[in-house]
Amino acid sequence: MAEPTPLAELTTLGVGGAPERMLVATDPDELVDQLTELWQGDDPWMVLGGGSNTVAADAGIEGTVVLVRTRGIERITTDAGVVLRVQAGETWDDLVAYAIENNLAGIEALSGIPGSVGAAPIQNIGAYGQELSSVLFGVELLDYETGERTHVPASALGLGYRTSVLKRHGGVDADREAVVLSVDLLLTESADGRGLPIAYAQLAKALDVDLGDRVELARTRDAVLALRRSKGMVLDAADRDTWSAGSFFTNPIVAESATHALPTDAPRWPLGDVDESATVIPLDGSSDVIAPPPITAAPQRQVKLSAAWLIEHASISRGFHLPGSRAAISSKHTLALTNQGNARADDIAALARFVQARVQSEFGITLQPEPVLIDVEL
Ligand SMILES: Cc1cc2nc3c(=O)[nH]c(=O)nc-3n(C[C@H](O)[C@H](O)[C@H](O)COP(=O)(O)OP(=O)(O)OC[C@H]3O[C@@H](n4cnc5c(N)ncnc54)[C@H](O)[C@@H]3O)c2cc1C
Repeated sequence: MAEPTPLAELTTLGVGGAPERMLVATDPDELVDQLTELWQGDDPWMVLGGGSNTVAADAGIEGTVVLVRTRGIERITTDAGVVLRVQAGETWDDLVAYAIENNLAGIEALSGIPGSVGAAPIQNIGAYGQELSSVLFGVELLDYETGERTHVPASALGLGYRTSVLKRHGGVDADREAVVLSVDLLLTESADGRGLPIAYAQLAKALDVDLGDRVELARTRDAVLALRRSKGMVLDAADRDTWSAGSFFTNPIVAESATHALPTDAPRWPLGDVDESATVIPLDGSSDVIAPPPITAAPQRQVKLSAAWLIEHASISRGFHLPGSRAAISSKHTLALTNQGNARADDIAALARFVQARVQSEFGITLQPEPVLIDVEL
């Protein structure tokens, strides 16, 4: 049993009180033993990795927090290719660096995402044209319901845009309550040291290549890290704009009919195949978005909207904060809610609610939070 540490010290937003009890697991068997014992009682529990997608209440957390600090990367050669089996407590970005050093392609565009490997499947992390789901082979889970330790294929995880069956949305339990013990990634051995085709316009531009070109893995990593830094999306204790949970809201997915009332310049991505004739409009100089295809598409087709655009066009600009509050919209990225010093979870929640209310009244769309909220209500 470890001395309970306030989550303000264990999360990148820097808010949250201490749990009643805290355990630290540094070895997979220890993690299984601790959880198995915990689950024999009725006490609330949760696991925490790098704390970069968690917003916890100021008052503290009922029950036990288990810190996942297990380590190890194993390389397995299979018929399908090279699989890296990675323990949940490894740091995601260290894994990306390791893959690149070993000429393994598939996660280079996911450079710089904070947090642990075990949390990566929880919301199917993604950025700059790559998503975990495209390389995730499977995971080893310890299931709360059965207490069993099993290898589960990625196809059983319901991976979608910033979601999976393992993710707890709002205060609701996950569809499958389980702890990820390790993650298997099927990566591509790169004979020429280049990565997968570049699939994101802004990254292609930064690299001065065309979409679909293949670029040296290390060069892609450097370009992604530079882009992310310019948006405050690489952790830097000295830069308060990085004291965040990354994007606080997901891009809303709505029926296409619900978008007809939006201004025509509101960016939207048709889900499924993107129309070849779609044009690319720069959004506020910082990201590329695809304009709507002609309205001849199926009427109830779903489209993804830009949460950043909606917030900016609801007259909330970068750096915005409520009077007297130390919680602010990042000065570099509209989607990040940040702790500018001594902010509390209540301040972050009040700012989030304000943003939601403005977007709701301006556009009739409710923004949903991306991070996991622990006893925090929006
Ligand atoms: C500056 C910044 C930039 C970011 N950029 C991106 C981005 O580009 N793309 C993106 O997708 N995300 C991004 N994020 C969000 C975040 O980094 C990811 O969601 C990351 O995977 C969270 O990892 P973590 O270990 O910190 O999770 P935590 O915050 O520790 O946990 C998040 C949730 O996962 C659960 N969990 C953690 N470990 C396990 C486990 N082993 N088994 C089961 N459940 C577990 C926790 O209980 C909690 O519910 C960003 C965050 C920050 C702060």
